[in-house]
This record gives sequence, structure tokens and C-alpha cells, in this order.
Amino acid sequence: MALKQLLIAGGGIGGLAAALAATRAGWGVNLFERAPQFSEVGAGIQLGPNATRILQSWGLGRALAEVAAFPEYLQVRNASSGVVLGVLPLGEQIRTRYSAPYATIHRADIHGLLLAAVQQQTPSQLHLDQGVLEFNDDGNQVSVSTERGLTVEGNALVGADGLWSRVRQQLLGDSPPRVTGHLAYRSMLRQSALPERLRSTRVTAWLGPRLHVVQYPVRGGEWMNVVAIVQGTPPESASGWDQVAYAADLQRAMGATCEPLQSLMAAVPEASVHTHAWRLWPLSDRAPVSGSGQMAKGLVALLGDAAHPMRPYMAQGAGMAIEDAAAFAGALAEDGVDVPGRLGRYALARWQRCARVQARSIRNGEIFHSTGLVRWGRDASIRLFGQRILDVPWLYQPAS
Ligand code: FAD
Repeated sequence: MALKQLLIAGGGIGGLAAALAATRAGWGVNLFERAPQFSEVGAGIQLGPNATRILQSWGLGRALAEVAAFPEYLQVRNASSGVVLGVLPLGEQIRTRYSAPYATIHRADIHGLLLAAVQQQTPSQLHLDQGVLEFNDDGNQVSVSTERGLTVEGNALVGADGLWSRVRQQLLGDSPPRVTGHLAYRSMLRQSALPERLRSTRVTAWLGPRLHVVQYPVRGGEWMNVVAIVQGTPPESASGWDQVAYAADLQRAMGATCEPLQSLMAAVPEASVHTHAWRLWPLSDRAPVSGSGQMAKGLVALLGDAAHPMRPYMAQGAGMAIEDAAAFAGALAEDGVDVPGRLGRYALARWQRCARVQARSIRNGEIFHSTGLVRWGRDASIRLFGQRILDVPWLYQPAS
């Protein structure tokens, strides 16, 4: 019997994870990526044990260990005073508790290891420079047409084409993503170029009024990823979603912070002289998913940011995309159910968890950026309950 064929729009972390999982489930894959090359931006992500457990189950544990960092602690500090409010041990403790590690990794590295794994699977065809323009689902087959005039048929289509998903636009016809008013400034620093006191092997979250900064090691600890999130409108010089940014704009937006944090921020080289200068991303999201019909209809499903773009305050957008891919492949592999039924099961299995993570991400942002009494209460709670607040068992435990 001929292999069933999955069409995938988008070759980011979500699309590649879906390709890998689907081929492992016995489907053939045609993946269409709009960019002329597979690539990821120069920034890091954190991957909780819920995501690394899946990577391990796909045989990627060793490859992950070669490129990621595995911080020993996550610490939360007050951005104004510098005081450490609470600590969550990661390292072996997390690995033992959740049977998988807490990893911090360069996006290009996780993307690269997924791509290498997909390329080793024979029934997968990867089409670069082929942005998906539209699809046609006739109830029996689904086809995609690309911006360059290619049309390919398959048995199912998954839209993994990110925040501004074209597949979603055609499938759901809902309003575009909303502007959050939060701006992410990000940079990567070589640890060896930093003064000793600024080097770190921990995940540190600095919480300040209307801002927070997260730093963590990547590339086996050789580099440090720094993301500062402030509220406001982008500076006038800014255009587009990923652009060069200026330390002076960030400094103005952050206001007064403690000396160690200021020194860290000042260590980022200026835009005019260095590729690792600040880059600015204005953040957009969508309201949490409100039903399974928002994740699949007929022969078409959505996955990753196309389905549930979220604020990065649970550090779970890519993690949810990886979970989606695993659940999607599980549904594809079900016998005795037609393809719309399988996609429906995927959507049913996923939408509430994704909605919960989206909602928690919004709430975390409010708590991280709080002012006045709320801020005081936040600091007191973290001091008092530390680990109990910072650990997230419902998220990190294996799905039952
Ligand atoms: P994308 O990465 O957007 O990939 C979509 C792909 O589709 C792209 O390659 C694009 O070129 C392609 N494409 C677009 N349109 C088309 C089309 N029409 N046809 C074909 N191809 C198309 N997540 C975590 O898990 N942990 C973190 O610590 C974390 N930190 C973050 C920090 C910040 C500041 C931000 C902004 C996000 C963070 N995230 C984090 C979220 C994470 O980056 C995203 O959720 C994840 O990358 C989404 O992957 P995706 O494959 O769904 O979408």
C-alpha cells in the first residue's frame, strides 16, 4: 500500500519536528519552506523536560547533549535591588524528577539537529524557496500551491508556518495576531569576552517594574543569551519584526536597575560595530485557543505558533510546537480512523493544554512586570515559597 503523504507548510522548529515525527509514524512528508535556506535567528531558547523528553524519544538525546547547555539553577532576582528572590535547582534534580533535562540551546542548534534527523528519513522531501500560497481540501485529498507555481497533493496538510500563518488565514479566516506592546531586545555574548563576575552558567530572570531580563548559557556554556523585555512602542527608527536595535533606546526604556544588571546590559556591543548587538522584536500573540476547531478542520491542522502563538513568559512556544508534533504523529498513526478523524483527535488532545500555557504566559508577564503592592507581594511569595512557585509539575510531567 502506498504511504500516506503529509504536506507541511513551514520549516521552523515546529515544521521540522512534525516532519520527523510523521516519518517516524510511517507517513511520507513534503515540506515547503518559504525561505531560500533553512535557518534560525541567532538567539537562544529554553527547553523544559516536557520538550526534551520528546527529543530523547526521537533518539536526539545525545545530539542535544552535544550542543545545549544544562544549567544547574534557575534564579529569580529583583532587577532594582539585585537581591536573589528564589532559586529552582535544575540539573540532576530536574532530570531525576521528570526523567528528562532542562536545556538551554541556540535556536540554530535545535533547528539543525531536527533538520539533520529529518534528512536521514527517506520518505521526506524538503522544498526550499516555496512559500505556500493556498491550499485546496476537497475532502478526499488536499493540495498546496506555492508562490512559485508548484502544486503538490497529499492526504493531510499541517500549517506550521508561524505567527503570520497563511494556512491559518485560509482555514480559520480570523483576525491577525495582536500587538502586545511588549518589545524583546535580544543579544548573544561570548562568555570568554565577559569579565569573570558577569559570566554565568545559570538561568537568571531579573524582574523589574514593566520589564524583565532573562539570561542563560547556550552552546555548552560558551555563549550567553540575553533577552530584555520592556513595555512600550518601538523606537521610531525601528521597522519590521527583527531589526537592529540601539542600547540607548533600551537603556531609556529600562530606567534605573541594579549595577550587576546594568553592567551585563552594557557588555552588549553597539549595533554599528558588531553582529551580536541588540536586535529588537516587537512581540505579538493571540488570545488562548478556545476550542479544538481552531487547531484542525477536515484534512488541515495547525501546529506551533500558527496554532497558538504565545508570549514567551513560560519559555514554551517551541516546547508546545514539539509537543504538538509528537501528538500529531500519534494521531496520524491511528488505524481504523479516517484522516479528518485523526486530525480531530490531535486537536482535541492539544487545544486545552496549549490554551493553558498561553494564558499562563500572559499572566506571568503581568506578574513579572508588576509594580507597587503587587510587586511587593510577588517578591515576598517567591522568597517564601521559592521552589514551589518556580517549578511547574503540570507542565513538565509526562502527559498521562
Ligand atoms: P516559526 O519559528 O515562526 O517557523 C515558521 C516557519 O514557516 C519559518 O521558517 C517561516 O519562514 C516559514 N513560513 C512562513 N510562512 C510560510 C509560508 N506561507 N509557506 C512556507 N513557509 C512559511 N519558546 C520556547 O520553547 N522556549 C523559549 O525559551 C522561548 N523563548 C522565546 C523568546 C522570545 C523573545 C520569543 C519571541 C519567542 C520565544 N519562544 C520560546 C517561542 C518560540 O520561538 C516559537 O514558539 C517557536 O519558534 C515557533 O516555531 P514554529 O515552527 O511554530 O514557527
